[in-house]
Amino acid sequence: DALTYYLTHYQSYFRSRHTVSGGSLLNTSELRQGLNDGHLTLFYQPQVDMKTEAVVGVEALARWKHPQHGLLGPGAFVPLAEESNLVGDFTTAVIAQAIDQMQKWKQKQLNLQVAINISSSSISILDLPHLLEHYCQHHKVEASRITLEITETQVGQDMVTMLEVLTRIKLKGLCLSIDDFGTGYSSLERLQRIPFDELKIDGSFVHGSYRDQAARAIFDSSAALGKQLGMSIVAEGVENQDDWDYAAKLGCDIAQGFFIAQPMAPEDFESWLQRRESEKD
Ligand code: C2E
Ligand code: MG
Ligand code: MG
Ligand code: MG
Repeated sequence: DALTYYLTHYQSYFRSRHTVSGGSLLNTSELRQGLNDGHLTLFYQPQVDMKTEAVVGVEALARWKHPQHGLLGPGAFVPLAEESNLVGDFTTAVIAQAIDQMQKWKQKQLNLQVAINISSSSISILDLPHLLEHYCQHHKVEASRITLEITETQVGQDMVTMLEVLTRIKLKGLCLSIDDFGTGYSSLERLQRIPFDELKIDGSFVHGSYRDQAARAIFDSSAALGKQLGMSIVAEGVENQDDWDYAAKLGCDIAQGFFIAQPMAPEDFESWLQRRESEKD
């Protein structure tokens, strides 16, 4: 029946978002030690302009190189970092690594928009506007090339701090994106008060939307709302041609998902990009 369908549909989707789950693979002290030992690494997933099909950016997605268990997805360590007092160190490491990568790409004439996921709890711990400006200057990277993603569920928290910090970040020239839209409960009032440039519709509403009426309703209205508020619309979780076609029909600006490419290590992303460019001409 319908309820069972929803439960399995959403549960399997949410589970699939974390490459490997199971927090028990890692504990707090291993996390602390691993941050120092370089176990944190970033994979990059392409984002494509839906009109021109040009690769316009990438999202940086955290991975953990575990000595015994291999490569772990964010489910194994992001919640752990957020629950511990390591969220500041973790976020700093992610930012440092992403901006360092941007500098390397810039030296190769590869200028991409790079989206970085930020835990909202780090907003009150770190001086993010200052930290971001520092790394940008140090690595000679333009602030406007960086997009910060904050999930919709986290936008609801501590509005005063959130608004203040995000506005300061915006004034430094960075772009702001509201991630996983549709899964949270941000009030529309909040949505228009925070200067978001981009709205990312959660993959659970994008993938399979053409055959799921409820997902489609959320997808349609979120895209329309974002457009009305002047935001760029990103469809995440585009897994096949039907997902792509439906997102295009709604006028989404950017698509991201397995239909285009998986998240990849920097060197794999570079060769993927080269192959794609050479196939084009
Ligand atoms: P997110 O920011 O919504 O990232 C998108 C997730 O969807 C990624 O999972 C990505 O691999 C996955 N994905 C991409 N295309 C598809 C598709 O076509 N179908 C499906 N089913 N999934 C797709 P990943 O890498 O496991 O990350 C999960 C979540 O972990 C992210 O969700 C984000 O909230 C969090 N995360 C990842 N990296 C970081 C980080 O550096 N810092 C923080 N704070 N959170 C992070
Ligand atoms: Mg994200
Ligand atoms: Mg999502
Ligand atoms: Mg997302």
